[in-house]
Amino acid sequence: MKPILPGRTIGILGSGQLGRMFALEAKRMGYFVHTFSPEKNSPAGQVADEEFIGKYDDAAAATKFARGVDVVTFEFENITKDVVKKIEKIVTVHPNSYVLSTTQHRHREKIFLQDNKFPLTPFEKIGSREELHEAIKRIGTPAVLKTAGFGYDGKGQTKIKNADQADAAYDAIGGKEAILEAFVDFQCEVSVVAARGQDGSFAAYDVVENQHSKHILDTTISPATISSELQTKAVEITRNVMERLDCIGVLCVEMFVTKNGELLINELAPRPHNSGHWTIDTCVTNQFEQQVRAICGLPLGSTERLAPFAAMVNLLGDIWQGGEPNWVEALLNPKVKLHLYGKHEARIGRKMGHVNVTGNSAEEVAASVARVKKIFGISK
Ligand code: AMP
Repeated sequence: MKPILPGRTIGILGSGQLGRMFALEAKRMGYFVHTFSPEKNSPAGQVADEEFIGKYDDAAAATKFARGVDVVTFEFENITKDVVKKIEKIVTVHPNSYVLSTTQHRHREKIFLQDNKFPLTPFEKIGSREELHEAIKRIGTPAVLKTAGFGYDGKGQTKIKNADQADAAYDAIGGKEAILEAFVDFQCEVSVVAARGQDGSFAAYDVVENQHSKHILDTTISPATISSELQTKAVEITRNVMERLDCIGVLCVEMFVTKNGELLINELAPRPHNSGHWTIDTCVTNQFEQQVRAICGLPLGSTERLAPFAAMVNLLGDIWQGGEPNWVEALLNPKVKLHLYGKHEARIGRKMGHVNVTGNSAEEVAASVARVKKIFGISK
Protein backbone atom coordinates (compact mmCIF):
# COMPACT_ATOMS: atom_id res chain seq x y z
CA MET A 1 0.00 0.00 0.00
CA LYS A 2 1.20 3.53 -0.80
CA PRO A 3 2.03 5.65 2.26
CA ILE A 4 -0.60 8.08 3.45
CA LEU A 5 1.31 11.32 3.48
CA PRO A 6 0.99 14.44 5.62
CA GLY A 7 -1.87 16.56 4.33
CA ARG A 8 -4.23 13.56 4.32
CA THR A 9 -6.82 12.81 6.99
CA ILE A 10 -6.69 10.21 9.75
CA GLY A 11 -9.90 9.03 11.42
CA ILE A 12 -9.96 7.90 15.04
CA LEU A 13 -12.72 5.76 16.52
CA GLY A 14 -12.96 6.92 20.13
CA SER A 15 -12.23 10.33 21.56
CA GLY A 16 -10.52 9.97 24.94
CA GLN A 17 -7.04 10.93 26.06
CA LEU A 18 -5.31 8.39 23.82
CA GLY A 19 -7.09 9.87 20.81
CA ARG A 20 -6.16 13.36 21.97
CA MET A 21 -2.45 12.63 22.31
CA PHE A 22 -2.52 10.75 19.00
CA ALA A 23 -4.29 13.69 17.29
CA LEU A 24 -1.75 16.18 18.64
CA GLU A 25 1.12 14.14 17.16
CA ALA A 26 -0.68 13.61 13.86
CA LYS A 27 -1.38 17.32 13.55
CA ARG A 28 2.22 18.17 14.39
CA MET A 29 3.18 16.00 11.43
CA GLY A 30 0.77 17.85 9.14
CA TYR A 31 -2.18 15.44 9.07
CA PHE A 32 -5.83 16.33 9.53
CA VAL A 33 -7.69 14.38 12.19
CA HIS A 34 -11.36 13.44 12.50
CA THR A 35 -12.74 11.72 15.59
CA PHE A 36 -15.84 9.58 15.98
CA SER A 37 -17.55 8.98 19.33
CA PRO A 38 -20.85 9.64 21.10
CA GLU A 39 -19.31 12.49 23.11
CA LYS A 40 -19.26 16.22 22.29
CA ASN A 41 -16.27 18.45 23.12
CA SER A 42 -14.30 15.30 23.98
CA PRO A 43 -10.58 15.20 24.87
CA ALA A 44 -9.69 14.22 21.28
CA GLY A 45 -12.47 16.26 19.67
CA GLN A 46 -11.11 19.45 21.26
CA VAL A 47 -7.88 19.14 19.28
CA ALA A 48 -9.20 17.43 16.13
CA ASP A 49 -10.23 19.13 12.89
CA GLU A 50 -13.66 17.49 12.96
CA GLU A 51 -15.58 15.82 15.75
CA PHE A 52 -18.22 13.37 14.44
CA ILE A 53 -20.86 12.44 16.97
CA GLY A 54 -22.31 8.94 16.72
CA LYS A 55 -22.80 5.75 18.66
CA TYR A 56 -20.21 3.01 18.16
CA ASP A 57 -22.87 0.62 16.86
CA ASP A 58 -24.33 3.15 14.40
CA ALA A 59 -23.08 1.71 11.12
CA ALA A 60 -24.62 4.49 9.00
CA ALA A 61 -22.91 7.28 10.99
CA ALA A 62 -19.61 5.40 11.08
CA THR A 63 -19.77 4.81 7.32
CA LYS A 64 -20.29 8.52 6.70
CA PHE A 65 -17.31 9.26 8.94
CA ALA A 66 -15.15 6.69 7.13
CA ARG A 67 -15.87 8.23 3.71
CA GLY A 68 -14.20 11.47 4.82
CA VAL A 69 -10.85 10.01 5.92
CA ASP A 70 -7.84 8.23 4.33
CA VAL A 71 -7.11 5.71 7.10
CA VAL A 72 -8.84 4.76 10.33
CA THR A 73 -7.48 3.69 13.69
CA PHE A 74 -9.09 3.27 17.11
CA GLU A 75 -8.09 4.40 20.54
CA PHE A 76 -10.04 1.92 22.62
CA GLU A 77 -11.33 -1.57 22.11
CA ASN A 78 -14.98 -1.35 23.02
CA ILE A 79 -16.09 -0.54 19.50
CA THR A 80 -18.59 -2.75 17.71
CA LYS A 81 -16.48 -5.08 15.57
CA ASP A 82 -19.13 -5.47 12.86
CA VAL A 83 -19.15 -1.70 12.38
CA VAL A 84 -15.36 -1.78 11.95
CA LYS A 85 -15.74 -4.60 9.42
CA LYS A 86 -18.12 -2.36 7.44
CA ILE A 87 -15.71 0.58 7.63
CA GLU A 88 -12.94 -1.69 6.34
CA LYS A 89 -14.80 -2.02 3.06
CA ILE A 90 -14.49 1.73 2.57
CA VAL A 91 -11.08 2.60 3.98
CA THR A 92 -8.03 0.87 5.50
CA VAL A 93 -8.28 0.27 9.24
CA HIS A 94 -5.08 -0.32 11.26
CA PRO A 95 -4.94 -2.40 13.36
CA ASN A 96 -7.59 -4.36 11.42
CA SER A 97 -10.93 -5.75 12.59
CA TYR A 98 -9.43 -9.19 13.33
CA VAL A 99 -7.00 -7.62 15.82
CA LEU A 100 -9.82 -5.58 17.35
CA SER A 101 -12.19 -8.53 17.59
CA THR A 102 -9.52 -10.78 19.15
CA THR A 103 -8.38 -8.29 21.76
CA GLN A 104 -11.73 -6.77 22.74
CA HIS A 105 -12.96 -10.05 24.21
CA ARG A 106 -10.94 -11.67 26.97
CA HIS A 107 -11.83 -15.22 26.03
CA ARG A 108 -11.06 -14.80 22.32
CA GLU A 109 -7.79 -13.14 23.31
CA LYS A 110 -6.81 -15.97 25.68
CA ILE A 111 -7.67 -18.62 23.07
CA PHE A 112 -5.53 -16.79 20.50
CA LEU A 113 -2.64 -16.67 23.00
CA GLN A 114 -3.10 -20.28 24.05
CA ASP A 115 -3.31 -21.54 20.45
CA ASN A 116 -0.06 -19.75 19.71
CA LYS A 117 1.61 -21.17 22.82
CA PHE A 118 2.19 -17.90 24.63
CA PRO A 119 2.67 -18.16 28.41
CA LEU A 120 -0.57 -17.59 30.35
CA THR A 121 -2.10 -18.17 33.75
CA PRO A 122 -4.68 -21.03 33.62
CA PHE A 123 -8.17 -19.83 32.62
CA GLU A 124 -11.62 -21.11 31.76
CA LYS A 125 -14.64 -19.67 30.00
CA ILE A 126 -17.61 -19.10 32.30
CA GLY A 127 -21.11 -19.11 30.82
CA SER A 128 -23.16 -19.90 33.93
CA ARG A 129 -23.06 -20.11 37.73
CA GLU A 130 -22.60 -23.89 37.52
CA GLU A 131 -19.64 -23.52 35.17
CA LEU A 132 -18.05 -21.14 37.66
CA HIS A 133 -18.38 -23.68 40.50
CA GLU A 134 -16.91 -26.42 38.30
CA ALA A 135 -14.05 -24.18 37.08
CA ILE A 136 -13.10 -23.24 40.64
CA LYS A 137 -12.66 -26.94 41.41
CA ARG A 138 -10.10 -27.19 38.59
CA ILE A 139 -8.39 -23.79 38.79
CA GLY A 140 -8.50 -23.46 42.58
CA THR A 141 -8.45 -20.27 44.63
CA PRO A 142 -7.54 -17.49 44.80
CA ALA A 143 -8.84 -16.75 41.31
CA VAL A 144 -10.10 -13.73 39.42
CA LEU A 145 -13.44 -13.59 37.62
CA LYS A 146 -13.46 -11.12 34.71
CA THR A 147 -16.22 -10.20 32.29
CA ALA A 148 -15.28 -11.24 28.76
CA GLY A 149 -16.06 -7.89 27.18
CA PHE A 150 -16.12 -4.22 28.08
CA GLY A 151 -13.72 -4.40 31.01
CA TYR A 152 -10.98 -1.91 31.74
CA ASP A 153 -9.12 -0.61 34.79
CA GLY A 154 -10.34 -3.53 36.87
CA LYS A 155 -14.01 -2.86 35.99
CA GLY A 156 -16.02 -6.08 35.70
CA GLN A 157 -13.46 -7.96 37.75
CA THR A 158 -13.72 -9.74 41.12
CA LYS A 159 -11.23 -11.72 43.15
CA ILE A 160 -12.49 -15.02 44.56
CA LYS A 161 -10.53 -15.92 47.68
CA ASN A 162 -12.34 -19.19 48.38
CA ALA A 163 -15.10 -21.27 46.81
CA ASP A 164 -17.71 -19.77 49.18
CA GLN A 165 -17.31 -16.42 47.42
CA ALA A 166 -18.17 -17.81 43.99
CA ASP A 167 -21.87 -16.90 44.02
CA ALA A 168 -21.24 -13.36 45.24
CA ALA A 169 -18.57 -12.88 42.56
CA TYR A 170 -20.92 -14.19 39.87
CA ASP A 171 -23.60 -11.75 41.04
CA ALA A 172 -21.06 -8.90 41.21
CA ILE A 173 -20.29 -9.19 37.49
CA GLY A 174 -24.01 -9.38 36.74
CA GLY A 175 -23.91 -12.98 35.48
CA LYS A 176 -22.25 -11.82 32.26
CA GLU A 177 -20.13 -14.03 29.99
CA ALA A 178 -16.78 -14.21 31.78
CA ILE A 179 -13.47 -15.95 32.26
CA LEU A 180 -12.01 -17.32 35.46
CA GLU A 181 -8.25 -16.94 35.83
CA ALA A 182 -5.88 -18.40 38.40
CA PHE A 183 -4.61 -15.57 40.58
CA VAL A 184 -0.95 -14.80 39.93
CA ASP A 185 1.14 -14.09 43.01
CA PHE A 186 3.44 -11.87 40.97
CA GLN A 187 6.78 -10.28 41.76
CA CYS A 188 5.91 -7.30 39.57
CA GLU A 189 3.90 -6.27 36.53
CA VAL A 190 5.64 -5.16 33.35
CA SER A 191 4.59 -4.13 29.88
CA VAL A 192 6.06 -3.70 26.46
CA VAL A 193 4.76 -1.10 24.02
CA ALA A 194 5.87 -1.78 20.46
CA ALA A 195 5.03 -0.89 16.90
CA ARG A 196 4.84 -2.91 13.72
CA GLY A 197 4.93 -1.25 10.32
CA GLN A 198 3.23 -2.26 7.08
CA ASP A 199 6.51 -3.77 5.84
CA GLY A 200 6.74 -5.97 8.96
CA SER A 201 9.33 -3.74 10.63
CA PHE A 202 9.23 -3.82 14.42
CA ALA A 203 10.34 -1.37 17.11
CA ALA A 204 9.86 -1.80 20.85
CA TYR A 205 10.29 0.62 23.72
CA ASP A 206 12.12 -0.42 26.85
CA VAL A 207 10.24 -2.81 29.12
CA VAL A 208 8.59 -0.85 31.93
CA GLU A 209 7.33 -1.73 35.38
CA ASN A 210 3.74 -0.85 36.29
CA GLN A 211 2.38 -0.28 39.76
CA HIS A 212 -1.39 -0.32 40.16
CA SER A 213 -3.62 1.09 42.84
CA LYS A 214 -7.24 -0.14 43.07
CA HIS A 215 -6.71 -1.93 39.71
CA ILE A 216 -5.84 1.35 37.97
CA LEU A 217 -2.34 2.09 36.73
CA ASP A 218 -0.71 4.43 39.22
CA THR A 219 2.98 4.64 38.26
CA THR A 220 5.12 3.43 35.38
CA ILE A 221 8.87 3.15 35.93
CA SER A 222 11.17 3.04 32.92
CA PRO A 223 13.18 0.95 32.49
CA ALA A 224 11.87 -1.99 34.53
CA THR A 225 14.36 -3.40 37.01
CA ILE A 226 14.03 -7.01 35.79
CA SER A 227 17.04 -8.89 34.36
CA SER A 228 18.16 -8.18 30.82
CA GLU A 229 17.31 -11.81 29.88
CA LEU A 230 13.71 -11.28 30.96
CA GLN A 231 13.58 -7.95 29.15
CA THR A 232 14.72 -9.60 25.93
CA LYS A 233 12.13 -12.35 26.44
CA ALA A 234 9.35 -9.81 27.03
CA VAL A 235 10.21 -7.96 23.81
CA GLU A 236 10.38 -11.23 21.85
CA ILE A 237 6.95 -12.22 23.16
CA THR A 238 5.61 -8.86 22.01
CA ARG A 239 7.20 -9.20 18.56
CA ASN A 240 5.67 -12.67 18.17
CA VAL A 241 2.24 -11.54 19.36
CA MET A 242 2.23 -8.72 16.79
CA GLU A 243 3.38 -11.04 14.02
CA ARG A 244 0.83 -13.73 14.85
CA LEU A 245 -1.94 -11.14 14.94
CA ASP A 246 -0.56 -9.45 11.83
CA CYS A 247 -1.03 -6.23 13.75
CA ILE A 248 -0.05 -2.97 12.07
CA GLY A 249 0.15 -0.13 14.55
CA VAL A 250 1.11 0.11 18.20
CA LEU A 251 0.32 -2.66 20.67
CA CYS A 252 0.98 -3.14 24.36
CA VAL A 253 1.49 -6.49 26.06
CA GLU A 254 0.92 -6.44 29.81
CA MET A 255 2.72 -9.21 31.65
CA PHE A 256 3.14 -10.59 35.15
CA VAL A 257 6.62 -11.53 36.36
CA THR A 258 6.06 -14.48 38.69
CA LYS A 259 8.04 -15.05 41.85
CA ASN A 260 10.08 -17.72 40.04
CA GLY A 261 10.99 -15.36 37.25
CA GLU A 262 8.51 -16.47 34.59
CA LEU A 263 6.62 -14.11 32.29
CA LEU A 264 2.87 -14.61 31.88
CA ILE A 265 0.78 -12.47 29.54
CA ASN A 266 -2.06 -10.68 31.33
CA GLU A 267 -3.60 -8.83 28.42
CA LEU A 268 -3.11 -7.13 25.08
CA ALA A 269 -4.07 -3.61 24.06
CA PRO A 270 -3.83 -2.95 20.29
CA ARG A 271 -3.12 0.79 20.59
CA PRO A 272 -0.90 3.25 22.43
CA HIS A 273 -1.14 2.48 26.13
CA ASN A 274 -1.13 4.31 29.44
CA SER A 275 2.15 2.55 30.31
CA GLY A 276 3.70 4.15 27.21
CA HIS A 277 2.97 7.78 28.11
CA TRP A 278 6.51 8.22 29.50
CA THR A 279 7.79 7.98 25.90
CA ILE A 280 6.34 11.45 25.18
CA ASP A 281 9.04 13.18 27.20
CA THR A 282 11.77 10.54 27.03
CA CYS A 283 12.09 8.99 23.58
CA VAL A 284 13.12 10.22 20.15
CA THR A 285 9.75 9.04 18.81
CA ASN A 286 6.86 8.75 21.24
CA GLN A 287 4.23 6.03 21.06
CA PHE A 288 1.65 8.31 19.42
CA GLU A 289 3.93 9.48 16.62
CA GLN A 290 4.89 5.82 16.19
CA GLN A 291 1.23 4.94 15.73
CA VAL A 292 0.86 7.67 13.09
CA ARG A 293 3.91 6.34 11.25
CA ALA A 294 2.80 2.71 11.43
CA ILE A 295 -0.77 3.20 10.24
CA CYS A 296 0.23 5.65 7.48
CA GLY A 297 2.88 3.31 6.08
CA LEU A 298 5.81 5.56 7.00
CA PRO A 299 9.09 4.19 8.36
CA LEU A 300 8.98 3.62 12.12
CA GLY A 301 10.86 6.13 14.26
CA SER A 302 13.64 5.49 16.75
CA THR A 303 12.58 4.31 20.21
CA GLU A 304 15.93 5.41 21.60
CA ARG A 305 15.70 7.25 24.89
CA LEU A 306 17.01 10.75 25.56
CA ALA A 307 17.09 10.32 29.34
CA PRO A 308 18.33 7.15 31.07
CA PHE A 309 15.51 7.00 33.64
CA ALA A 310 11.88 8.07 33.56
CA ALA A 311 8.53 7.59 35.23
CA MET A 312 4.88 8.43 34.70
CA VAL A 313 2.35 9.11 37.43
CA ASN A 314 -1.36 9.05 36.57
CA LEU A 315 -3.49 11.95 37.80
CA LEU A 316 -6.96 10.68 38.69
CA GLY A 317 -10.00 12.81 39.49
CA ASP A 318 -9.36 12.03 43.16
CA ILE A 319 -6.73 14.78 43.40
CA TRP A 320 -9.29 17.49 42.53
CA GLN A 321 -11.57 16.57 45.42
CA GLY A 322 -9.96 19.11 47.75
CA GLY A 323 -9.87 21.85 45.08
CA GLU A 324 -7.49 22.62 42.20
CA PRO A 325 -4.25 20.61 42.52
CA ASN A 326 -1.12 22.65 43.21
CA TRP A 327 0.36 22.68 39.70
CA VAL A 328 2.85 25.44 40.46
CA GLU A 329 4.39 23.56 43.35
CA ALA A 330 4.72 20.38 41.24
CA LEU A 331 6.26 22.27 38.32
CA LEU A 332 8.92 23.76 40.57
CA ASN A 333 10.83 20.64 39.60
CA PRO A 334 11.83 21.63 36.04
CA LYS A 335 11.90 17.98 34.95
CA VAL A 336 8.22 17.49 35.76
CA LYS A 337 6.07 17.56 32.61
CA LEU A 338 2.33 17.99 33.00
CA HIS A 339 -0.21 16.43 30.63
CA LEU A 340 -3.92 17.15 31.14
CA TYR A 341 -6.64 15.72 28.94
CA GLY A 342 -9.28 18.47 28.85
CA LYS A 343 -11.91 16.44 30.74
CA HIS A 344 -14.61 18.59 32.28
CA GLU A 345 -15.54 16.56 35.33
CA ALA A 346 -12.95 15.28 37.81
CA ARG A 347 -14.62 12.11 39.04
CA ILE A 348 -12.96 9.71 41.51
CA GLY A 349 -10.94 7.11 39.60
CA ARG A 350 -11.19 9.00 36.27
CA LYS A 351 -7.93 9.49 34.38
CA MET A 352 -7.60 13.28 34.06
CA GLY A 353 -3.94 13.55 33.11
CA HIS A 354 -0.47 12.37 33.96
CA VAL A 355 2.92 13.67 34.93
CA ASN A 356 6.16 12.50 33.33
CA VAL A 357 9.53 12.87 35.01
CA THR A 358 13.00 12.08 33.72
CA GLY A 359 16.33 11.79 35.51
CA ASN A 360 19.92 10.69 35.41
CA SER A 361 19.44 8.00 38.04
CA ALA A 362 16.68 5.74 39.32
CA GLU A 363 16.97 7.51 42.68
CA GLU A 364 16.43 10.95 41.13
CA VAL A 365 13.31 9.72 39.35
CA ALA A 366 12.01 7.96 42.49
CA ALA A 367 12.48 11.17 44.49
CA SER A 368 10.62 13.21 41.84
CA VAL A 369 7.77 10.69 41.83
CA ALA A 370 7.53 10.76 45.62
CA ARG A 371 7.49 14.56 45.64
CA VAL A 372 4.80 14.82 42.95
CA LYS A 373 2.64 12.28 44.79
CA LYS A 374 3.04 14.14 48.06
CA ILE A 375 2.04 17.47 46.47
CA PHE A 376 -1.05 15.94 44.86
CA GLY A 377 -1.92 13.77 47.84
CA ILE A 378 -1.62 10.52 45.87
CA SER A 379 -1.19 7.58 48.20
CA LYS A 380 -0.92 3.91 47.41
P1 AMP B 1 -6.72 -6.26 33.88
O1 AMP B 1 -7.93 -5.40 33.69
O2 AMP B 1 -6.93 -7.68 33.48
O3 AMP B 1 -5.47 -5.66 33.28
O4 AMP B 1 -6.43 -6.27 35.45
C1 AMP B 1 -6.09 -5.10 36.16
C2 AMP B 1 -5.11 -5.43 37.26
O5 AMP B 1 -5.67 -6.41 38.16
C3 AMP B 1 -3.83 -6.09 36.76
O6 AMP B 1 -2.92 -5.13 36.29
C4 AMP B 1 -3.36 -6.78 38.03
O7 AMP B 1 -2.79 -5.87 38.94
C5 AMP B 1 -4.66 -7.30 38.61
N1 AMP B 1 -4.93 -8.68 38.10
C6 AMP B 1 -5.66 -8.99 37.01
N2 AMP B 1 -5.66 -10.31 36.78
C7 AMP B 1 -4.91 -10.88 37.74
C8 AMP B 1 -4.50 -12.24 38.05
N3 AMP B 1 -4.91 -13.28 37.32
N4 AMP B 1 -3.69 -12.42 39.11
C9 AMP B 1 -3.27 -11.37 39.87
N5 AMP B 1 -3.62 -10.08 39.64
C10 AMP B 1 -4.42 -9.82 38.59
